[in-house]
Amino acid sequence: MGGMRINTFIDLVKNRDRTLLKILRHLKIAEKDGRIFLTVPDPDKREYVENLIRLKLGDSLAGEVVVVSEEKNRETSPDLHTGLSRRFTFDNFIVGEGNRLAYEVAVAVSENPGSTYNPFFLYGRVGIGKTHLLQAIGNRCLDKGLKVAYRSAPEFSEEVVRYIKEGRISEFRNMYREVDVLLIDDVQFLSGKERTQMELFNLFNHLYMKDSQIVLASDRHPRELKDISDRLISRFEGGVVVEITLDEMTKIEIVRKKLQELKLTVQENIVRLIMESTGPSVREIEGAIKTLKLGGSGALKPKRGRTDLDTVQETVATYFGISREEILGNSRSGRVARARRFAMYLCRKVTGASLIEIARSFGRKDHTTVIHSIRKVEEERRKDRKTDYILSFLERQLRERI
Ligand code: ADP
Ligand code: MG
Repeated sequence: MGGMRINTFIDLVKNRDRTLLKILRHLKIAEKDGRIFLTVPDPDKREYVENLIRLKLGDSLAGEVVVVSEEKNRETSPDLHTGLSRRFTFDNFIVGEGNRLAYEVAVAVSENPGSTYNPFFLYGRVGIGKTHLLQAIGNRCLDKGLKVAYRSAPEFSEEVVRYIKEGRISEFRNMYREVDVLLIDDVQFLSGKERTQMELFNLFNHLYMKDSQIVLASDRHPRELKDISDRLISRFEGGVVVEITLDEMTKIEIVRKKLQELKLTVQENIVRLIMESTGPSVREIEGAIKTLKLGGSGALKPKRGRTDLDTVQETVATYFGISREEILGNSRSGRVARARRFAMYLCRKVTGASLIEIARSFGRKDHTTVIHSIRKVEEERRKDRKTDYILSFLERQLRERI
C-alpha cells in the first residue's frame, strides 16, 4: 500500500458521498505517514465522524483515516499551565476546629473530584488558608494525572482580556474546557468585570455538565459578593459553601509548628507574645515569626490591649444606642436582644473566633445561644434588606477597626 494522499481521499469522498463531503469541509485534513488525519474541534464529535467514515467508505479505507480531536493535536495552542505551587499540600496544613470542615471537604473533593461537592465554595477572611487548600486540592489532583488550572480571579480576568484582544477567545475557551479541575481564587475580585463573569459562567456550565470539579474561594459568602451577576452567584451557591475560620486553639498549634519549622525554640512566653501580636491570620503569624527571627522578641509588640470581640460588642452597642454591659447582660427586651444577636453574628463573621470563645466573651457557658443567634440573624439578613444593609455597614466599619 502506497498510502493515501489528501487529493485522492477528497476525490474519493466526492464520488461516494456528498454528506460526508459537507462534514469534511469543516474539519482540518492532514496527511502523515501515508494516512489521512482528520481533526474534529470537539472530542464528542470524534466517534460520530469515525462511524460515518466507516459506513460511507468501508472498513478497509476507513483504516487509512485517523480521526483525532483538537486536544490531541494542539501543538498550535499553548498548553494550559497549572498555576500550582508545590509548597501547599494537605500534609503541611494544620487542622483544628475552625478549619476542619473546610479541610475535610477539600480532601473529599480531591478524592472524588466532580461528584458530591461540586462546586465547592470556600470563604473566610484573609490569611486563613483558603489559597493553601485550593492549591492542595490542585496538587493532589495533578498527582492523580488530572488536568488542573488554578487562577486567581484577577489572573483569569487578565487572560480573558488578553485572548479577546488577540482575537483568540475561542482558543481560550477550548483550552479551559478541557480541565478536570478548575480552581478560581479570590472571586470577590470578579466584581464589576462583566466580560470575565460571562466567560466564567459559560465555562462553569460546560465543566459542570461534564462533571469536572470547580472550586472557588472568596473573602465572603457568595450572597455578599458585590457587582457579580445573580446567575453566577446562584451557580456558586449550587454546591457546598463552607466557611473557614481560625480559632485560638488551632492558632496556638500553628504558632508552635511554625516556630519548630523555622528551628526556633518553642517557649511559652514567645508563643504568647506571637498570639497577642497577631490577629486570626496565619499569614500574620508567619510574618510575626519572621520578624522575631530577625529582630528578637523585642521586635514584636502586642497588637492591642482589647480583643477583637470587645471591639465588635462595643461597636454594635454604640450603633444601637445601648451600653456594652447591656449587650453582655440578660435583658430580653427587643432591641437589646437584637443587638446581642447582631453582635454574636458579627463576632463570628469578622473575628474568626470560635463559637465557644464567642459564648465566653458574652459570659455564656455554652455556645448554643450563639448558634441560635447566628442562624436567626442569617435568616433575617436573607429576608430583610434593611437588616442586610445594617450588617454590611457594621461589618465594613469593623473590618477597618480590627
Ligand atoms: P488566604 O488565601 O486565606 O488569604 P493563605 O492560604 O494564603 O490564606 O494562607 C496564608 C499563609 O498561611 C500561607 O503561607 C499558608 O501556607 C499558611 N497557612 C494558612 N493556614 C494554614 C494551616 N492551617 N496550616 C499551615 N499553614 C497555613
Ligand atoms: Mg488567598
